[in-house]
Amino acid sequence: MTRVSKNPTDLQVLAGWENFECRLILSLIKTLPSPEKHCRAWQRFHTVNRVSVQFTILGSGSSGNCAYLETSQTRLLIDAGFSGRQIRERLARIARSPERLDGILITHEHSDHVQGLAALASKLNVPIYCNRLTREAIESQMGIRLNCQTFITGGAFEVGDLQVETFSVPHDASDPVGFLLRTPAGNIGFLTDLGHATKLVLQRVRPAHVLVLEANHDVKMLQEDIRRPWSLKQRILSRHGHLSNDAAADAAQEVMSAELKHVFLGHLSRDCNRPELAYKTVNERLQKIGASHVRVELTEQHLPCPTLDISAMQNGSATVTPAVPEFPPTSVPRPDFPPQQVLL
Ligand SMILES: [Zn+2]
Ligand SMILES: [Zn+2]
Repeated sequence: MTRVSKNPTDLQVLAGWENFECRLILSLIKTLPSPEKHCRAWQRFHTVNRVSVQFTILGSGSSGNCAYLETSQTRLLIDAGFSGRQIRERLARIARSPERLDGILITHEHSDHVQGLAALASKLNVPIYCNRLTREAIESQMGIRLNCQTFITGGAFEVGDLQVETFSVPHDASDPVGFLLRTPAGNIGFLTDLGHATKLVLQRVRPAHVLVLEANHDVKMLQEDIRRPWSLKQRILSRHGHLSNDAAADAAQEVMSAELKHVFLGHLSRDCNRPELAYKTVNERLQKIGASHVRVELTEQHLPCPTLDISAMQNGSATVTPAVPEFPPTSVPRPDFPPQQVLL
């Protein structure tokens, strides 16, 4: 069982700082009365001191999902929905390797979220963080035993200097979860693979500065699609299926805050959505409610997004592309997706 954090604002991670001013600031932060103030002050302290927190969506769509988060102390994957070779190649694009990972967080057992897990787990002794039912489902479908740090859905735990909060999402898997990752520079919400956004889900990701949000399909395009059987359409449209563009816009509107700065639209269907349509639906809604401070960015199935430097973003700087400058430009709707294998 992973250590469950009783105090979400644990500052022990900073205890090693030797600079007197830093220690003085930290001692002042600890005297703040509420945990929420603790956390905000902690993140502000890190931001001012330019602690680097970088976040890269390595790919997202119905054929595979994987993201990489790096702080000064911790390197994590969120889902492993590409082959082991693909994950290695995509990490290499940002000059990183799977050998340096501290853990892999898993949202649920569907293959577009775990297909590289067996390969990574067999080669690396990296801990895998998932709940019990998800672990059992993965072990059953892959015929392997996993090195798992099991968490209880709804609970929180720590990995290095990250605090991981988990919550249940409505989706047709064993025990699917979303995450709120509290990093030293800001919070990242993960909200993909859900049929509808419950009040609980919205409440749990409301502290996010960066939100990964599913915009799977356009309802009309899905209904008119001739490749999918009626039963599959019903599954996708159900309350335990996937979020449509309109539902994603609703969710983004609901969680809007002054702190939310960046929304990644993920898990787009190749056949039943168009990137420009997903972008337009969500972005127009945000403009309509006056949320012009939020940047909406599309993710891609076959290419990593440019890396987001969360510390720089909190200081008002734009997205940066560190390490290897070969990514395509950001925030441009890209309509030409290569073929996918999964009809979602
Ligand atoms: Zn999925
Ligand atoms: Zn799924």
